[in-house]
Amino acid sequence: MTIPYRDLTSKALCLLIILTIVLGCRRVKDAPSPMEVIITNTGIEMVKIPEGWFDMGSSSGSPDESPLHKVWISSFWMDRYEVIQEQFKKFQISDPSHFKDPNNPLEQINWTDAILFCNERSRAEGLEPCYDEESWECNFQANGYRLPTEAEWEYACRAGTRTNFSFGNDVRNLKNHAWFAENSSDRTHPVGQKKSNPWGLYDMYGNVSEWCNDFYSENYYKNSDQKNPRGPMKGKERVLRGGAWNSSSDSCRSSYRSSDPSIDDTCLASDAIGFRCVRNASNNTSPGKNMVKEKQNRKTSKTGLVYDDIYLEHKTTPGHPETSGRLVAITQRLKTSGLYSQLIKLSPKPVPYEWLTTVHSPEYIQRVKKSCENNAGYLDSMDVPISTQSYEAALVAAGGVLSAIDAVVEKKVTNAFCAVRPPGHHALKDKAMGFCIFNNVAVGTRYIQKKHNLSDVLIVDWDVHHGNGTQAMFYDDPSVLYFSTHRYPFYPGTGSETEKGDGQGLNYNINVPLPIGSGDADYLRAFKEKLEPAALAFSPDFVLISAGFDAHKDDLLGGMKVTAEGFAQLTQIVKEISEKCCEGRLVSVLEGGYGLEGLAASVEAHIRVLTR
Ligand SMILES: [Zn+2]
Repeated sequence: MTIPYRDLTSKALCLLIILTIVLGCRRVKDAPSPMEVIITNTGIEMVKIPEGWFDMGSSSGSPDESPLHKVWISSFWMDRYEVIQEQFKKFQISDPSHFKDPNNPLEQINWTDAILFCNERSRAEGLEPCYDEESWECNFQANGYRLPTEAEWEYACRAGTRTNFSFGNDVRNLKNHAWFAENSSDRTHPVGQKKSNPWGLYDMYGNVSEWCNDFYSENYYKNSDQKNPRGPMKGKERVLRGGAWNSSSDSCRSSYRSSDPSIDDTCLASDAIGFRCVRNASNNTSPGKNMVKEKQNRKTSKTGLVYDDIYLEHKTTPGHPETSGRLVAITQRLKTSGLYSQLIKLSPKPVPYEWLTTVHSPEYIQRVKKSCENNAGYLDSMDVPISTQSYEAALVAAGGVLSAIDAVVEKKVTNAFCAVRPPGHHALKDKAMGFCIFNNVAVGTRYIQKKHNLSDVLIVDWDVHHGNGTQAMFYDDPSVLYFSTHRYPFYPGTGSETEKGDGQGLNYNINVPLPIGSGDADYLRAFKEKLEPAALAFSPDFVLISAGFDAHKDDLLGGMKVTAEGFAQLTQIVKEISEKCCEGRLVSVLEGGYGLEGLAASVEAHIRVLTR
């Protein structure tokens, strides 16, 4: 065994910890408001925006964005995407767009034609049109469609954020969220290709600027109403919000304002201007008769569970901490707690060879197979004992992660936990290490990218040991952000803070080494201060957790003091990242955890948060 059971420096480190422990646990942020998404019976997806306060404007932007002021917005439904050309033509209105494509945003539309579309759409669904077609006045009491007010637009765009963009202040990430001057090739693009904002709205930055209902006035914020402001009473120009394909990054900011004459000749209308519709929701808490299909309800997550009895057939040597009893303890605990029946059971299959070879060499795979067939006793070192069925179990462990990923991408579940063994995060391209045979999470990462075309993957590894295998596999790869908290110095010896990635992958590898005896507060601090900002800036398309529970206070190997509740709080932080960045797509994969009671309690607490 290469894993040290005792650490001679532990006393000195304990003293250091006592001296450096700062405060208690900080309160974890409330989960984002549940977002309901429906499809109207004219086939348009809408997101329910919750009521609430927000800070409108900016104290550092253009003069017309100040003063920063508090605004209350009532609940409303908002189109998830900009109105596309195909939808516009459904109402037999000729499509004025310059960049023709049914899925591109409608453009070259003036304000009055946009509101006429709102009225047509209302009539098509048996709703009361909001606009008087002679005076162009908006009846805000009507239940039909209208343009958003400027305040509604900014509130929805910010989605609870206060930064320049809903993904933070780092303008380099704008390319992931928007088609704008730097990446648009001077044209519009089909809507929904870039990342959504935290509330699931697409193309709020870039593609086309959007008409709002309000007249524009540079000084309006100085005397704006506090509740549902609707702009000045009169004006010549109407407000435009959100950047367009030809915009600079600065004019894509959440608080940026522009305007255009409201009544114009269609021939003179701009090919950089489109719109999206909203509808009141405050008196309409149920979707109502025109909302035919509830597509998604985020109030609770459906959580998948991957498990198979084959995992018990990977037999280790007597007295070895990585035993089949670990999975028995977990499944029993899930059953006695009543959680088991709430989980969607996902049946794993052996990982196909072509996916295993995305991270392991064919020679190594062959060596694992032969060693198991020949009952060699161990693989590469005494550290990795094997039995005749270990190869099969290891294939199904990696395959289980792929099943979970498929279920999440296909929206059968929101997220999933894989109760698999052997674990994976120490396994290298051509070498077994530290109880691990195939690197389950690494195979899953390549599968997400190549099978499902999701480019950026965040791996959060909170196992007490550093995931040297995973780090090595993605060390020069900027499409994978690897974040690890681990006891250091400790097995396997890697994981110092100076290991930050290489080449293009520089700064996409974040190690947070922690001293022996670290507890909930230390882990939470690392997650809030190091993981959260980096992950939101990275904005992953999928989140994987290397969920080892050997940092639990009662673990046989770990020497740390994390509680089951601590693991629940870490789970909440990672889950929120996935909700903000990638519609909650998250798969958690068991790594270590060797005190059976602590392991079972921690897995239960972890899954409870996933199901919330
Ligand atoms: Zn471990």
